[in-house]
Amino acid sequence: MTTILNVRSLVKNFSGLVATDNVNLTVEEGEIHALIGPNGAGKSTLIAQLMGELRPTSGSIDLAGRPIDDLVTADRVSLGLARTFQITCLLPDFTVLDNVAIAVQVRSGHSFRFWRNVRDETSLRDEAREILDVVGLMSRSDELVTNISHGERKQLELAVALATRPRLLLLDEPMAGLGHLESQQMVDTLRVMRSRVSMLLVEHDMEAVFALADRISVLVYGRVIASGTVEEIRNDRAVREAYLGEGDELC
Ligand code: ADP
Ligand code: MG
Repeated sequence: MTTILNVRSLVKNFSGLVATDNVNLTVEEGEIHALIGPNGAGKSTLIAQLMGELRPTSGSIDLAGRPIDDLVTADRVSLGLARTFQITCLLPDFTVLDNVAIAVQVRSGHSFRFWRNVRDETSLRDEAREILDVVGLMSRSDELVTNISHGERKQLELAVALATRPRLLLLDEPMAGLGHLESQQMVDTLRVMRSRVSMLLVEHDMEAVFALADRISVLVYGRVIASGTVEEIRNDRAVREAYLGEGDELC
């Protein structure tokens, strides 16, 4: 098995506060690794360090066996790292299809140009359609982003992230603000996506985490207090005490 992400002894201090406390974490190829933990545990800070948006105090990060510590975000993206944001980064006055086609175009190295080869444009759109199919938005291709629902926007964000052809996708609370049905849809989409991309999934919705994760790591005050399969984490006493509150049902 190939290790896509290898985080070793990562530390991040914010003037006195240890937001990342000696974190070790791996994501294997094809795996969905969930990262859970209470608010303020350091989940978003960890993602920011993986993307190169925030510089770690110490430690190291390898992507597919290559150290990326000295690379800026754009170079990490070219090596196969992608993330989704909690705040939407879509073009509201363009169609669903155009938003993905533009992301494909940016990835494939074309800059925005007034003149474009028709054949290029067709291949961009074909690839964009294929990605929309994966996230279940094919029937909404021609709709303007401003007219689609919150849940559909979240699906579209995944499509835009997939357009960069990532090897590892970092998802920061993809279910946030979604209703029950929309969450269900998101779980289905992430299941379909797992065949093409490994994922580090930060999520509070435990139903979704248990449905999707191959492994779960639990972060509390910047430290990984437990890491294991769904079954192992459900039965871990330290997790129940520190995170879920002793006696809380974990399902
Ligand atoms: P989570 O995503 O798990 O809710 P965060 O990573 O956002 O947690 O935050 C972890 C801790 O680091 C919190 O105590 C937060 O207040 C602190 N923190 C995050 N970003 C900064 C920053 N830029 N400067 C100082 N403290 C920060
Ligand atoms: Mg967060």
